[in-house]
Amino acid sequence: TNQANDQPTRYVPADLPGRIQHYIGGAFVDSADGATFDVLEPVTNDVYLQAAAGKKADVDRAVAAARDAFVNGPWPRMLPRERSRILHRIADLVESRDARLAELESFDSGLPITQALGQARRAAENFRFFADLVVAQADDTFKVPGRQINYVNRKPIGVAGLITPWNTPFMLESWKLGPALATGNTVVLKPAEFTPLSASLWAGIFEEAGLPEGVFNLVNGLGEEAGDALVKHPDVPLISFTGESSTGQLIFANAAPNLKGLSMELGGKSPAVVFADADLDAAIDATIFGVFSLNGERCTAGSRILVERAVYDEFVERYAAQAQRVVVGDPQDPETEVGALVHPEHYDKVMSYIEIGKSEGRLVAGGGRPEGFESGNYVAPTVFADVPPSARIFQEEIFGPVVAITPFDTDEEALALANGVRYGLAAYVWTNDLKRAHNFSQAIEAGMVWLNSNNVRDLRTPFGGVKASGLGHEGGYRSIDFYTDQQAVHITL
Ligand code: NAD
Repeated sequence: TNQANDQPTRYVPADLPGRIQHYIGGAFVDSADGATFDVLEPVTNDVYLQAAAGKKADVDRAVAAARDAFVNGPWPRMLPRERSRILHRIADLVESRDARLAELESFDSGLPITQALGQARRAAENFRFFADLVVAQADDTFKVPGRQINYVNRKPIGVAGLITPWNTPFMLESWKLGPALATGNTVVLKPAEFTPLSASLWAGIFEEAGLPEGVFNLVNGLGEEAGDALVKHPDVPLISFTGESSTGQLIFANAAPNLKGLSMELGGKSPAVVFADADLDAAIDATIFGVFSLNGERCTAGSRILVERAVYDEFVERYAAQAQRVVVGDPQDPETEVGALVHPEHYDKVMSYIEIGKSEGRLVAGGGRPEGFESGNYVAPTVFADVPPSARIFQEEIFGPVVAITPFDTDEEALALANGVRYGLAAYVWTNDLKRAHNFSQAIEAGMVWLNSNNVRDLRTPFGGVKASGLGHEGGYRSIDFYTDQQAVHITL
């Protein structure tokens, strides 16, 4: 079973804030009604700070500041190169603070410190990427010789409402902030209430980089209050949301009266399909990483592994053994591979799925709290084999270190199993048959397929899901498209 790496004295980052405020129009402010909410850290589940609990009045104020900066401020009218310089400075600052960002993120969310560090660097890269992209951006021009010229004016849209989840919070915020700002919009960010700590650093970074006042605004608070007010605000024409599919559905309905632009990055139950001819060593390593990295709290987690019958027994045995070697530990310990789940509510949810799984499949690794951990939201990497497609642990997103393995006999059966869920975010395919690899990938209902590959993403590629996993695409120029209007101008010659 998974060993605690001898829980040392608990490491607590220095200079933790005792409270977190909103950031509106260039100033840190409390909620209009003074309300706050508790923030816990997942190793002790102690409340370690209070965050301002934003309501409609606070969102109204933030939107007014963002709207003013959009209508009257310099940001939307700056040359792409000028905005790009500021975004590169933001990237430099994020990079120079990566260790601090990682320790705060790890402390607040329970992510292993080495992985939190990688996410901080990825956040810097997101800013760099979009800083470069807006400078290189070219728009269409069409000429009808002697008759007409048609060209495109690309314009920022206005105040973008950005609503983000608690898994890799800082990085996912950067994924929206980068393109929204690069294209000249102003923003109101509503980060997840479980993990507000790292988001509180944005304001200082942006001020230091020279982002004009009012361009970036942050309102903390609960989804049903602060998030809801942002979604329903008539002066917010765009909502970019990442979170659960059910929340996405609600936001879709709530945004309808104002006909908003919506980008929806939602949940997943992504299959990893392992054919008998695959490089099994590589497939096992990657599928272990695919579901246990980031504590399994990953939208693109390969949480269902479908394995061809000829190698099924060997795969299950080796996979279970490797899962048992995954090191569970204090998130701040660099040896740790799986830390503590974000919050006791989420921990209870994951644990309840593990109990359900015990009657749906054959438990071959983990199955509860790892040995040596008396408190904190620790879950042993858990593997169920022989899971039928009707099982809840096959169908529903668990969002923790829990995986379901299912055998298949034919390519057709593999495809039916892969596609037999409501989600369609990512898929992973392992085979050395070239034709099968490409044909199978094409037939899978997933926004992204990794073929004989770990989950590594080129920032230029489209990111998004199909079915219940999302609507629209971000990534590369698709993000630019989402955050801008394209006005066609027609000239008669
Ligand atoms: P969640 O839907 O509970 O919350 C996400 C955000 O929405 C939070 O900031 C929350 O406060 C806010 N919110 C909640 N109710 C709201 C409402 N009625 N109106 C407006 N805002 C509201 O999701 P979560 O539990 O924080 O995140 C985990 C989920 O996110 C998983 O389903 C995961 O797969 C998904 N996710 C998807 C991607 C992707 O790119 N597809 C990436 C990461 C996470």
